[in-house]
Amino acid sequence: MLPRFIAFLTLVGIVLSMPIEEQDDDEEEGLRIVCPEDGVNPCFATGHETFGIINEGDIIETIKKAMDGDDEERNALIDKERLWDKGVVPYIYHQQFSARDKARIEAAMTIIEKNTCIKFKQYEKGNSEQALVFITRLRGCRATVGYKLSRKRHNLNLHPLGCLGRSGTIIHEMLHVLGLKHEHARPDRDNYVAIMWKNIKDGHQKNFVKGSDKEFTTFDIPYNYKSVMHYPAVSFSKNGEPTILPLDPTVDISILGQRKEVTKLDLEKINRMYKCKKHL
Ligand SMILES: [Zn+2]
Repeated sequence: MLPRFIAFLTLVGIVLSMPIEEQDDDEEEGLRIVCPEDGVNPCFATGHETFGIINEGDIIETIKKAMDGDDEERNALIDKERLWDKGVVPYIYHQQFSARDKARIEAAMTIIEKNTCIKFKQYEKGNSEQALVFITRLRGCRATVGYKLSRKRHNLNLHPLGCLGRSGTIIHEMLHVLGLKHEHARPDRDNYVAIMWKNIKDGHQKNFVKGSDKEFTTFDIPYNYKSVMHYPAVSFSKNGEPTILPLDPTVDISILGQRKEVTKLDLEKINRMYKCKKHL
């Protein structure tokens, strides 16, 4: 009896000392694509990756740019090479999104698709990964701006808490992916708003630098205080005082930074950028 018991203990000891295979080691892995073989469920992204440094509030610049200072700042609006080919934006979800989260994201995609010639296309096995937007749900709402061949990853990060509540917030980030920067950074913005530099938190001034008119075009679309790409009046304020003030006294300051819905002018800018036949 005793030898059998000892043999049993030895067996337990061997089993316990065997290396346990890590099942949930996503934290350690880079982002990768998994395509289920069931022929039913779509491919998804898993794992984690740092996409880059965040520059203009919610705009992700690549790590490469921070390291070698490449020409990321050229604005997508004027540079055809920074547009998505034929207006098609392939994307893949991170596996952590719920069906409800995806429904909200897809509702925002539908609004853009209905009003422009842009098409969002879910990644399928065998598609090129070169131009693919990884939709992730890390902290914060942010995105890479425009398409870029040399970019390691294109990213649309939408945390369900704080990013998926209003369609304007989701669309704001999607319009970055399509190539738009912020409305208050237009080259002609000084005719429409005053930047209150003294109220801006130290280190955040770069969020208010305007684009050069050599690199940035407005596509002759009027300045849009209601744009989903505009910042709120007290963005990055160190003292609660406005950092952006409309010069037109009739403009309601609370309209700045609205994220309730995308405006026609925002969508029309996409139509002109991508030379869509559709116009609003
Ligand atoms: Zn933004």
